[in-house]
Formats: sequence, structure tokens, C-alpha cells
Amino acid sequence: MGNKKEIHSDLPAVENVLSDLIKIESVNPPGGETRVAGYLKKLFDRYQIHNEIIEPEPGRASFIADIGGGNKKLLYLSHTDVVPVTDGWDFPPFSGGIRDGFVHGRGAIDCKGLVAAEACAMIRLAQTAKLNGKLIFAATADEEVGGYVGAGVLSRKYPEKIRADFVVNEGAESLTLGDKTYHSISVGEKGPAWMKLTTKGISSHGSVPIAGNNAVVKMAEVVNKLAKYQPRIVLTPETKKLVQTFVRLDGLTDKVDESNLDAVLNKLSDKTLVYYLKAITRMTISPDVIRGGIKTNIVPDNCETEVDVRILPGQDWDYVMKELKGILNGVSVEPIQYSSASLSSSDNDYYRLIETTLKEFLGDVTILPSICTGATDSRYLRELGVPSYGIGVMTLNTDPALSSSVHGRNEKIDIASLRLKTDFLVRLAWKYLGD
Ligand SMILES: [Zn+2]
Repeated sequence: MGNKKEIHSDLPAVENVLSDLIKIESVNPPGGETRVAGYLKKLFDRYQIHNEIIEPEPGRASFIADIGGGNKKLLYLSHTDVVPVTDGWDFPPFSGGIRDGFVHGRGAIDCKGLVAAEACAMIRLAQTAKLNGKLIFAATADEEVGGYVGAGVLSRKYPEKIRADFVVNEGAESLTLGDKTYHSISVGEKGPAWMKLTTKGISSHGSVPIAGNNAVVKMAEVVNKLAKYQPRIVLTPETKKLVQTFVRLDGLTDKVDESNLDAVLNKLSDKTLVYYLKAITRMTISPDVIRGGIKTNIVPDNCETEVDVRILPGQDWDYVMKELKGILNGVSVEPIQYSSASLSSSDNDYYRLIETTLKEFLGDVTILPSICTGATDSRYLRELGVPSYGIGVMTLNTDPALSSSVHGRNEKIDIASLRLKTDFLVRLAWKYLGD
């Protein structure tokens, strides 16, 4: 990296930074991300990196920093809150223990591992390279419950602080076929269109049900129709490429299109992969909570159901309502949570730069564009018109079972992957912003 400044010997080790971050409990709700921001501020101050804490609500700070300057801009994005823990861990979830080649604890993968890798990459570049453009770092609050006081506030109130040519963030799916795992770059995500449905009836004594009108029975019919609803299959260029590649990798010769997709997918040998590919090629509807009735001998006059609807890029709330009009006739519908689905192209120089840089570390492996079934902060950047890409960057021999510890028990990450992630981020920024 030409034009080197003096290299300080005390660059932080990424595993130590991650261990420190895990020890700062920032479970959301309630969050408490300000303490994480305070830690990052101290760390970045030590290396004289320009930074700022933005705290829209007490305790709910996001942290941003930047180095370099110029027209080109790259944003390293991550989040500092974590999901709650349940009982039954093999180690204390907030110990941040480093042993056997792993860093242990809640957030190790989602998402403090990325916070640590991006922070260390930023510090390394600040110490060793003169950039020809601007590298921005944003570690946001609140991602796990929608990002409204984190990336939401940044994108609404301070868009110029985070606007970049492109973004790298969390979100890459680990795609497994049999015992082989494939690397992916996440290019989009589905949007939640969660709704509460209410049916009304007339109460009467349960011994004379004919005198009443049973709201639970009405709702049962609605739920049954929702379960049987057949959504339209949609293949984007990215999902078509993804599906077609796995069909080929599984030894099949079928050419997929929207009319034969399910028939072809049903032939694939890995059911978990099939579930994923089905979920990213259609709107999904899952009635997950139902409440109705108060007593065995009272005909209920009210029943509520909460439905998890996930839409594809190109679909919106109006689309959902139009599609379900026939089923939801006479039912009151109330949105619980809505955000649009989002997609960034995989046919541009940013995607190709990430892909070629990944291959420099991983060899000539298959890297596929993936779609997240859940939501990340990337959608806020895409709303600003900034292409956003989710990266995983694990070593080739990382156990794919590790990803199931995300939001589950015994979350941990191997140090080799953390270091690889950091090296990848340094090289990506250098290739885009270096002079
Ligand atoms: Zn996350």
C-alpha cells in the first residue's frame, strides 16, 4: 500500500475488540448501545480517527467515524445491539471468552464480530494507508427491532453522514447443499408486512351456540384460507441465477422458469435449501398468533390473529391487500409492522469488486447473490439509493453449524474467520479508495 505512514505497533487484535464488545451487554430491548458507542469512541480516539456519537434517545446511541476524503465513498455498516439470550448456554453468554480458537458470546456473529472487524480494518487503514476517497464507519443501534432509532434516524436526519457509493453490511446467507457450503453476497431482502386480523361475532351462551355468531369459527376459516393461499412465483435475475446454480450443482439439467420452479426445486436433495429457495421466490404468509374466547361456555364475539407476511422486492402493502381481498372480506386488518423489500443489483462494478476481492482470499469458489428472508439495516441505505451488500466472509473450513447459533444458544465465531473478515475489508477499501 503505497505512501505508507508510520505503522504503530499497537494495532488492536480483532478478537480482543470483539471480546470487549461482547462484555458490554446491549440486549435489545432495551438496547443500551450508548455504552458500546462509548467504547468505540475511546478506541477510535486512540488512533485519532474523526468520530461522532449520535444519541436520539437516552442510551440508544449509534457511532459513526470516517477517514480520508474525496469523491469516492465506501460505508462499513454494522449494528451494536444484540438479541436476548435464553437459558441453557454452555458458557456465560456475555463473558466474551477467547479459547480454542473462538470468541464466545452473544453477538459474536450477529453482529459484533462485524463491528470489530470493520473497526480494526478502519484503524489499520488509518494507520497505514493514504486513501484517495472517504471510508465511513457506522455501527448503529436498534437493528434487531427494526432500526428505527439507529439506521432509521441516521438515514432520515443525517443522510449525508452515511451516504456512500456502496455499503458492506451483514446479511449474507450461508447456503448449504449436502455437506458443502457456498459463499454468498446478499443483494436484497424481503420486507415484513405484518398484520393483525380481527373477526367480530355475537356472544351467546355456549349451550345455545345457534343464538350467537362465533368469531373464532369465522377466524378459523380465514386462517385456513391463508394457509392454502398459493402466492405468485417471482424470479428476479439474482434468484434465477441462484436457483439455476444449485440445480446444476445438484446434478440436474432442468432449466428453471416461473412455471416449473417448484417441480424442479422439489427434486433437490437438500430440503433446508429448498425451503430457503421457495421463501425467496414468493410472498410468504404465516398466521402465527391467535387469540379468541374467554370461557368454555361463552360463544366468543372477538378473535384476533397476527400474521407474518413477507413481501418480495416489487411488492408492497397495496399488493398484499389486493391479493388477499377475497380471503379478508369482512375481516378488519391493521398493520403491525411494515417495511418495503429492497434489492441492489448484482450487475455492477461494486458487486464485482466485492466478488473478486472475496475470491482473492477464498480461491476460485462459487459465490452467489442471495436474498435475506429477514430484514437488516441495508434497507435504509437502499432507500437512500445506495447499493448495499451483505457479506459473510468465513474461512472455507468454518463449520456451517455456527450460523445456527445466531439468535440461538452458544453463539461463537472462529478467530480465523474474524481475521479473514478484517483482511478482506482492508483490501476491499484499499482497492476502491486507495491511490
Ligand atoms: Zn444482525
